[in-house]
Amino acid sequence: RTEYPDKKVDSVCPYCGVGCQLTYNIKDDKLLYVDGKNGPANENRLCVKGRFGFDYVHNPQRITKPMIRKEGVPKIPHEFIDPMNPWTHFREATWDEALDKAAQGFLKIREQNGPKGLAGFGSAKCSNEEAYLFQKLVRTGFGTNNVDHCTRLCHASSVAALLEGVGSAAVSATFNEVKNSDVIIVIGSNPTENHPVAATFFKQAAKRGAKLIIMDPRGTAMKRHAWKLMQFKNGTDVAMLNAMLNVIVEENLYDKQYVQTYTEGFPAFAEHVKQFTPEEMEPICGIDADTLREVARTFARAENAIIFWGMGVSQHTHGTDNARCLIALSLITGQIGRPGTGLHPLRGQNNVQGASDAGLIPMFFPDYKSVEDPATRGAYEAKWGIQLDPKRGLTVVEIMDAIHADTIKGMYIMGENPAMSDPDLNHAREALAHLEHLVVQDIFLTETAVYADVVLPSSAWPEKDGTVTNTNRQVQMGRKALPLPGDAKEDWWITIELAKRMGLNWTYAHPRDVYPEMASMMPALDNISWERVERENAVTYPSDAPDKPGRDVVFDKGFPRPGGFGKLVAAKLTPPDETPDHDFPFILTTGRQLEHWHTGSMTRRATVLDAIEPTAIAAVSRGTIAKLGIRPGDMIRVSTRRGTVDLQSRQDDAVPDGVVFIPFAYVEAAANLLTNPALDPFGKIPEFKYCAAKVEAI
Ligand code: SF4
Repeated sequence: RTEYPDKKVDSVCPYCGVGCQLTYNIKDDKLLYVDGKNGPANENRLCVKGRFGFDYVHNPQRITKPMIRKEGVPKIPHEFIDPMNPWTHFREATWDEALDKAAQGFLKIREQNGPKGLAGFGSAKCSNEEAYLFQKLVRTGFGTNNVDHCTRLCHASSVAALLEGVGSAAVSATFNEVKNSDVIIVIGSNPTENHPVAATFFKQAAKRGAKLIIMDPRGTAMKRHAWKLMQFKNGTDVAMLNAMLNVIVEENLYDKQYVQTYTEGFPAFAEHVKQFTPEEMEPICGIDADTLREVARTFARAENAIIFWGMGVSQHTHGTDNARCLIALSLITGQIGRPGTGLHPLRGQNNVQGASDAGLIPMFFPDYKSVEDPATRGAYEAKWGIQLDPKRGLTVVEIMDAIHADTIKGMYIMGENPAMSDPDLNHAREALAHLEHLVVQDIFLTETAVYADVVLPSSAWPEKDGTVTNTNRQVQMGRKALPLPGDAKEDWWITIELAKRMGLNWTYAHPRDVYPEMASMMPALDNISWERVERENAVTYPSDAPDKPGRDVVFDKGFPRPGGFGKLVAAKLTPPDETPDHDFPFILTTGRQLEHWHTGSMTRRATVLDAIEPTAIAAVSRGTIAKLGIRPGDMIRVSTRRGTVDLQSRQDDAVPDGVVFIPFAYVEAAANLLTNPALDPFGKIPEFKYCAAKVEAI
């Protein structure tokens, strides 16, 4: 090293839901390097993103001035603007002018079209306080519950199933609990790439002797550590899991005392799973009956068994049913509520848990209180001093449909990039271009910001204070380490200034002023003050007293549901919305790579990460490469009924024949031009993990 830091600031990684604590090492207000810190989730470890993914904050493409769209410049779907020269489309503005224009546009639409003419997308990349302020502005300033964020594209179906089954949307045990597990199921998840530090704990547990069972249509990198790899056919989760449930019920392996004491609905559930024998499910899911039996028996007989799942489970039109099966597996075997047991949907973004907890969703106020419940709404009306919308709002994809239907005319988007992350991007980009008034608050001129009428330059994670909640329910402190570039402002400041211009009397001067109000409406945060999080760096919720550590494992005495019972919900076999046929014979599935984060706005501007993975790729099997008559690395064309992209082929032996996997970070070959917007009816999550595709050599 030739340079040494003059400042060190402790904070939290801005990428995935693992929530690794880290230390920024800074010299002359530039980030030199990052060290892992001994946080409860990471124990000093970091992955490549956490260690090398930070120079995006100093990228010259940062927006540093508020911008207003030039008079007469049309919004054209799929148009891209050189981020170094936005002045072809925008002109510089003062903060007063930009905020006035943003607020007046919303007020005009509210006046002319009513509150339902407006909507907002907040961000799981922002702090808890910013999520709370954002949803409060939409609910009290816009007057609607049309507020959502990327949880809708991530674990919305898991949340729907968990709230229904166990009465809580959060995990029942931290992932570090694998230290106490003897059987670990990881299904529909590739932690080595998506939750890399969590994966190190899983691998250590396997090394110690725990039986690691990997269930995934793509054989993942974790398979080297697996006791069993169950590479089931895409979209057949319910068939495979119901077969296991069948074995456990038919062979009397369920925990009768637990079922009687802590669950409801068992007789009907047991009757339902009778039809799903391993022999009948084998041809559907592709896992032989003997393996289904062996794994079911192993899970049921384990001393402590735990289940982790990812978006391979949730991003289906039957995502809620997939999660219902996993919940049932835990409940009927009593593998929950004890150390080393439980249910853990691995959260994607660094604050998707916290943003959802804080009410950044259209059907719930903070703490998952229904907006349609009169008593709850009355309490919020009393607290916020304003009459609230009595109906649940629209979700992410529904909002895009409502723009096309001319119902929604104006949007406020903070830190989300739906022009890359939504399914069927042609539809989504046309919707964004169609909006009468779009205000985008971001750190770069994203693919979404190019459609904006007003662009508000905001803060990267190391440039602001705020709390953040990881997949483990650990509330942690993110600390400001760097100055804001140019005239950029903290996201919380921008939302507050917009609210004031919309007639709201907000007097918060810092996130620490927001936190107590938010926490007062969220029993999960009882005994967890801002000062405590600042002092201890991380506190797990729930915490029973201000001086007691939070609970790593919950549900030891039943569930936060009527009677304390967990609910067993039967899941039936439902095919994917669109299946392969003569014209589109492949299955397309999308996801992330280790080096790139979601739509790539940060990681593709991080030098090291972009150097490792600079090119849009499509992963296909050895058999597909041979069938296409190409060499690995040759360009291929992938098409669906919604669009076409050209990208580099990559031979990947984890991908089955007939399947193509594309990461969604690359604007030049945006995977979501191809994806199907069909929704799970409960979670309203799109089917990113399955649609019919054509793959051709070019
Ligand atoms: Fe960041 Fe997740 Fe990597 Fe940890 S595992 S360093 S939270 S991206």
